[in-house]
Formats: sequence, C-alpha cells, structure tokens
Amino acid sequence: MLGLDGLKRIKDTHGHEAVDRALFELATRLIDILRKDGFLARIGGDEFGIVLPSISSLEDPANLARRMVASAADTFAIETGAAGLSLAIGIVIAPLDGVNPHELVRRAERALYRAQSDGRSRVRFFEPDIDIHVERRINIERELRSAIAADIIEPHYQPVVSLESNRIVGFEALARWENRTLGHIPPDVFIPIAEETGLINALGDQVFRRACLDATAWPKTFSLAFNISPVQLRDSALGGRIISILEQTGFSPCRLEIEITESAFVERNGAAKTVIDELRQAGVRIALDDFGTAYATLSQLLSFRLDRIKIDRSFVSHLDESTDSRVIVRAILDIAKGFGLRTTAEGVEDEGQLVYLVANGCTEGQGYLFSGPVQATGIPALLDRQARRGPVTEDGARNLHA
Ligand code: C2E
Ligand code: CA
Ligand code: CA
Repeated sequence: MLGLDGLKRIKDTHGHEAVDRALFELATRLIDILRKDGFLARIGGDEFGIVLPSISSLEDPANLARRMVASAADTFAIETGAAGLSLAIGIVIAPLDGVNPHELVRRAERALYRAQSDGRSRVRFFEPDIDIHVERRINIERELRSAIAADIIEPHYQPVVSLESNRIVGFEALARWENRTLGHIPPDVFIPIAEETGLINALGDQVFRRACLDATAWPKTFSLAFNISPVQLRDSALGGRIISILEQTGFSPCRLEIEITESAFVERNGAAKTVIDELRQAGVRIALDDFGTAYATLSQLLSFRLDRIKIDRSFVSHLDESTDSRVIVRAILDIAKGFGLRTTAEGVEDEGQLVYLVANGCTEGQGYLFSGPVQATGIPALLDRQARRGPVTEDGARNLHA
C-alpha cells in the first residue's frame, strides 16, 4: 500500500492540471521500477496499491519499496516549476501476515499508517504490534473527540515561584485528561493527536477559556502562563480568538504570558509573527519555552520580541553532576540578562539546583521542589500554606524562607 503526501500542496500552489501531471509522472516512474513483476493500481485520491505475485525473499519488496520512495522524492517538472511528493509504503506478506484479502488490505493500511506517522523510515512491514499501536491511537482519537465535545479536558496549575522573593507569582496551565477506559493520557500524547486531526483549535480555546475563568479567582498580581504549540501558531486567527476569550472572561491581557517553543520561530511562519505581534499589542507577554532544545539561531529568536526565556528541564536536572549543564545554564542566564529578559528554570527538583540558579541570577523557578501541577481547587490550600509557612515546598522540602 502506497500513500502519497504533497498532492494538496501542488494543487494549492500550481492547480489541478499540475496534480494530474505529477500523478502521471509518478505512475510512470513506479511502473518503470515495478517492470513486469507486479500489478499497480491507483486505489484512492492519494493511495496506490501494488500486488507482487511472488517474491524470493523479504528483501525483494523492501528494495522495490525503497526505490519507489526515492523516485517519488525526486522533483517533478510541471509547467509552472517543479514540485515534490513524498511516498510512504506499508508492506504485508501472504500467507505470513494472513490469507484473507480483506485482512491483508487492512494490515497493509496499518503498516502504511505507521510508515507515514513514523517520519523517518518511510517503508514499514506489518508487525502484529502495529495493530495494537494503531488500535490504541484510533481509540484515543475517538475518545478525544468526545472529550472535547463534553469539555472535560481541564487545566491544572503549576506554581511559578520568584527566586528573589521565594513566593508564588503565577501559575502555568497544563492540560489534563482523565479517560474512563484509557486512564490518564498525558498532553505529550493527546496534543499532537489533536494537532493532526484539526481538533487543536477547539481544544486550545476550551482549555484557555477555563484557565482564564479559574485565574480570575487568584490574587490580582498573579500571572497565568499558557502553552501554544507551533501548529496552533500557523493559524493567523489565533490571536483574535485569544483576545476575545480574554474579553469574555474579563481576564486582563497584562496578566497573561503565552509560552511558545523555538520551533515556532524556525518554521518560516508568517502567521506566527502576526499572532505574536497582535498579542503583544494587546499587552500579552511572550515566553520562549524549552529554550535550548531546538535549533533556532539567536538572531531568529531576537527578531521576535520576547519577555522571558524558560530554561529547559534537561539542563536544570543535570546541574548537580554535569559541568556542561552548568556552563550552558549560566550562558543562557547571561544572554537573558543582557537583553533584559526574565528567566524561568523548569523542572527544579532539588536544593543544589536551586542554589546554583539563584547564584547565577535566574529570576523564577518551577518544579517539584516547589510543587507539581495542582487542580484549580487545590490553589487556595497552596496559597494558605505559603502564607503560614513561607513559600510552597513539597512536603519535606526545606522551608526556603528560613
Ligand atoms: P512544558 O510546557 O514544558 O511543561 C512542563 C512539563 O514538565 C509539564 O508536563 C509538567 O508537569 C512537567 N514538570 C513540571 N515540573 C517538573 C519537575 O520538577 N520534574 C519533572 N520531571 N517534570 C516537571 P506535562 O503537564 O505532561 O506537559 C507536557 C507538555 O505538554 C508541556 O511541556 C507542553 O508543551 C504541553 N502542554 C501541556 N498543556 C498544554 C496545553 O494546554 N496546550 C498546549 N499547546 N500544550 C500543552
Ligand atoms: Ca510550558
Ligand atoms: Ca517547557
């Protein structure tokens, strides 16, 4: 089973005829590679199927598939220029993987699905665990749709602590989803699925609205940090939606900080700039999340006006034992200071890390040392504890005020 990617892009930039030309050209290349060994058919808008009546080893279909993937990657000459397509291939072997034709087609589709979502290796043989993997993914997707329809994905809140005053200065909203049958599903799993399925706008708006409503109950000096993924930033209407949710809920834009990752800057993304400019204009602050994990250049980063850099947990968690991490963290703090940006260290888990961060001028911290994310209803208790005992620390941690 061959899945084609890029037809829509060709249609959008070059028109229908270019799509036909590219398809014809691709089919010609595939037939050339296949020669008389097999049978090729176009079985869907962007799907082809191939049947090889006999093979001498598993290497045969694998080699054929790899050559086909490579041939599709070569550009296609069309009237208005050149266009690229990408091909992924799922392979199923009879009678090894089954003898029932419907079952074989279904399994080939699953292998293809894996090849497409895998990103790297574009050719996959069917493996029994693919079934389980794909099954789970399909389940999550279905459950996610109903979770969004029922508005049951809710933000939890992790305190952001000032390293100058040792007090909570705000919270970061982190989406939480508890499902009856699938259990706890982390945002690292469901956010990318929401992105692929186009559910992310509805989900993001919903969680953001809840966060704004919750945050209006906090002391007025507290800020709310909210995560926006690079995929969300491709939508130039996002800024307008955020601003109207702020208006509807009465939460001040000046108390909001949007967290975006480096990759949003690397993608040549006009929409991202529009959205960020619009939000800044409205008084919203911008933080750079997970700093140091992607490959943005400093000049790319500085072309956007930022308010804060968040130092990724991967550096913070190795501060105690890695000289490299200490050097990197100090350098990030120096750069931030030089540009007048505030800094949050993510994932602070122990005293040693905290001491190093404070000594090098980091302005805020987040992490289990202070508190993990808590439900909205848990916030008053957290603040109460801070009022009575000084700053929040997880049970057993040293009182930072002492
Ligand atoms: P992030 O923005 O980097 O969030 C920090 C993650 O680190 C959170 O994971 C948090 O629970 C975890 N964490 C905080 N302190 C510590 C610590 O001391 N030690 C360790 N080991 N972990 C700590 P979580 O909630 O699973 O979120 C994962 C990612 O999912 C977030 O990374 C963020 O990129 C994304 N995400 C979460 N909620 C949303 C949302 O509403 N919208 C979007 N677009 N993305 C979200
Ligand atoms: Ca974040
Ligand atoms: Ca982060």
